[in-house]
Amino acid sequence: MKSNEDGTFSNGALVPFGTVQIEPHSSVLNYGQGLFEGMKAYRRADGEVQLFRPKENAMRMQVGAERLLMVAPSIEQFVDAVKQVVSANKRWVPPHGKGSLYIRPLLFGSGSVMGLAPAPQCTFLIYTNPICNVYKGRTSPLSLLIHDTIPRAFSGGTGGVKNIGNYSPIFQVTKEAKGKGFSDVLFLDAKEHKYVEEVSSCNAFIVKGNVISTSPTLGTILPGITRNSIIQLARDLGYQVEERKFSVHELLEADEVFCTGTAVGISEVGSATYSNQRVDFNLGANTVTQKLYELITGIQTGLLEDKNGWVVKID
Ligand code: PMP
Repeated sequence: MKSNEDGTFSNGALVPFGTVQIEPHSSVLNYGQGLFEGMKAYRRADGEVQLFRPKENAMRMQVGAERLLMVAPSIEQFVDAVKQVVSANKRWVPPHGKGSLYIRPLLFGSGSVMGLAPAPQCTFLIYTNPICNVYKGRTSPLSLLIHDTIPRAFSGGTGGVKNIGNYSPIFQVTKEAKGKGFSDVLFLDAKEHKYVEEVSSCNAFIVKGNVISTSPTLGTILPGITRNSIIQLARDLGYQVEERKFSVHELLEADEVFCTGTAVGISEVGSATYSNQRVDFNLGANTVTQKLYELITGIQTGLLEDKNGWVVKID
């Protein structure tokens, strides 16, 4: 789907997976004017296929588009296009409990732009890919390396939106960390290198007693849809949930640490290493993490009642 001169989108079309033609002087190739979203389609036990909070992805893309001076599809256009793509790929949605179909909506500046300027036209496209959770969840806890020099985002930048340019600058540190056996990198704030921000593609939570804390989304942290859902579910379960700044030292003293995201689901953290010191956290069947994992996974896969009206079925 491409935006027209009046800033609206033309009707798109379903086409087989293949290459995309793009102008060499498009703003996405030259200046990184692009956004993406990550979503999943889940198969219920009765065989039906459903999405989880797709409107939230549409709204987040609109916020990102405003930041990057792009035209985003309307919420209805976005959700309708995702439904069409999933419907056409239903057979690729794995059986209930065996993973999900990953959906990647993209919005980027296309059309010709010669100077340093936003694109005259935007392209919105969606592709899919069947995957399991990126991390293995409770059976394989994450080992995080806490990076105290290179931040993921800085105040006034684009950390709070899903700009394609947010990800390549952290390839180097995440590759190094994975080479040393860590599952991922946890980033700290850019100013004091002290406060916990997030992991490369997921939000971080700590649990201490009955209190669950996660960093506030004040422009440098992506407002994760899983994060928002977990905050609500945890409050419904009676936990005190705080969105506040917390230091790396507070994380190291937590009972439990977990990460949330569409790709990773909810993944427990087994250990965090900071300044060459490794700290291990509580794991297992009786943890808060496990309770929340079962709750959100149950809603996403149709095993538990969707009290909040979060799931959207595919015809
Ligand atoms: N933080 C970052 C940097 C991410 O890329 C993602 C994945 N979209 C998240 C957090 C989690 O967001 P969500 O729960 O919406 O997938």
